[in-house]
Amino acid sequence: MNLYTKHPLSGRKKDQYARWILLAVVALIAAIFIVFTAMMARRLVGRHQAAATDSTPQYTRPNVTTPAPTTPPPQTDTTPTGTTPAATTPVTTTPADTNEHGFPNWIDQLLLTNTDARPGTPMPAMNVKYIVVHYTGNPGSKAINNRNYFNNPAANLYGSSSHFIVGLDGEIIQCIPTDEVAYANYPMNDSTISIEVCHPDATGKYNEATYRSLIRLITWLCGEYHFDETNVIRHYDVHRLSGYTHDQSKKCPLYYVENEDAWQQLLSDVATALGK
Ligand SMILES: [Zn+2]
Repeated sequence: MNLYTKHPLSGRKKDQYARWILLAVVALIAAIFIVFTAMMARRLVGRHQAAATDSTPQYTRPNVTTPAPTTPPPQTDTTPTGTTPAATTPVTTTPADTNEHGFPNWIDQLLLTNTDARPGTPMPAMNVKYIVVHYTGNPGSKAINNRNYFNNPAANLYGSSSHFIVGLDGEIIQCIPTDEVAYANYPMNDSTISIEVCHPDATGKYNEATYRSLIRLITWLCGEYHFDETNVIRHYDVHRLSGYTHDQSKKCPLYYVENEDAWQQLLSDVATALGK
């Protein structure tokens, strides 16, 4: 039993040892192979990476430097071009809106110094009811001529004046601040804003440029006073509204009194400009 038991046991043990050794050798070879393969793989990857990193800067740099000189010129070209209008647009837009008096800069302020025509009587905005449109009655005269006439005490014997004058080239001159009374709309001077309008001939019809500026000015004033076209009247209407009949024969503004359609068109153009 002993031998019998010993022998096969010892034989089995020998077999087991042999198997373990074989397994260990195979495992060692496998491990060496794996480690070797891994090292080789790393080297290869490293070479590829190195090659990649080596070639990348080599190719990238020229690529970077090549477009770099190419890109900056267009950049320097586009940058000032893009910057100049970008800078010019707000620069011209922002001050274009208002002047130092808070008025649009398309209105030239040449305030009167003649105290007959501009005594400085306050007119609070809440008192203002109408915007009154006139014609100068002096064909071909310029806005500046009319302004200077208002400002000349020797010529302007009645001390008449107007807040605004619209000229033949569409220019607009402001003669009186809107919070002061102007003297064109008797007996409603203290509740009205007056606009004198130049005209090329005796018909009193406004030319295109004048008309456009007039609409622009009226529209802007309507915005300031929260008015609409129903607050826009003719000098002629002052008499009708105030019951003052003494001067009723005076047709001002002549063309727009004689041509009711033209006046209604003007009011309609104001309404359109106001977005109504
Ligand atoms: Zn008038």
